[in-house]
Amino acid sequence: MAPDIQPLSDDQFQRILIVVAHPDDVEYGMSACVHKWVARGATVAYLLLTSGEAGMQRPPAEVGPLRAAEQREACRRVGVDDLTILDHPDGVLEYSLALRRDVARRIREFRPDTVATSAFDVEVGWGLNQADHRVAGLVALDACRDADNTWVFPELAEEGLEKWGTRRFLVFGDPNPSHGVVLTREDVDAGIASLTAHEAYLADLPGHPAPEQFLTEGLSAQGEAMGVEFAALFRVHELAGPA
Ligand SMILES: [Zn+2]
Repeated sequence: MAPDIQPLSDDQFQRILIVVAHPDDVEYGMSACVHKWVARGATVAYLLLTSGEAGMQRPPAEVGPLRAAEQREACRRVGVDDLTILDHPDGVLEYSLALRRDVARRIREFRPDTVATSAFDVEVGWGLNQADHRVAGLVALDACRDADNTWVFPELAEEGLEKWGTRRFLVFGDPNPSHGVVLTREDVDAGIASLTAHEAYLADLPGHPAPEQFLTEGLSAQGEAMGVEFAALFRVHELAGPA
């Protein structure tokens, strides 16, 4: 095991909110962890900021509902039924106070101990990051703090949502991972099944590697860093929420 990568204790998580930009963003490795977390009784919810309507060659009006349906199936395959898809615009997602407020609202509603997102650096392990991903991760982080502040977005309290402190913030695919989730073959297979659920979307991407090959290779490479067969690596930040 690389000395700087620690196993993430399972009992640290009970309620996990995953915040990403698009349908399919969770399915590139995180959903295998979701399968593990749900199987041991944790509650996991997804918050997608867009419906990914600009992601295919077909018209957005057709693609949005199609990708939402594929995402629901992807969720089902790892045991998640709590899926929220916001209607912020795909491809041109802007870092804004309105977006931060929407994510903070969901945090106050769901009251997670853990918020997870995908890497939001400009440069990540697989190349240069996409614009919406950079926005989504930063907004997710800032919204954790917003949700725990009485005076930022006071309108949320007026909606009946009390402030909430998230305990930790996980970044999947961070170039400097600190922790890893050890996965079984069953977790990896569930992750593959969830990515495969994005059937029409993947068919629209010529040259996309098969989900089985892609995730098996990716999660086994991350496992190598921990001396195990399969793992998913995260950078973990402790926030100010209750222990
Ligand atoms: Zn994406």
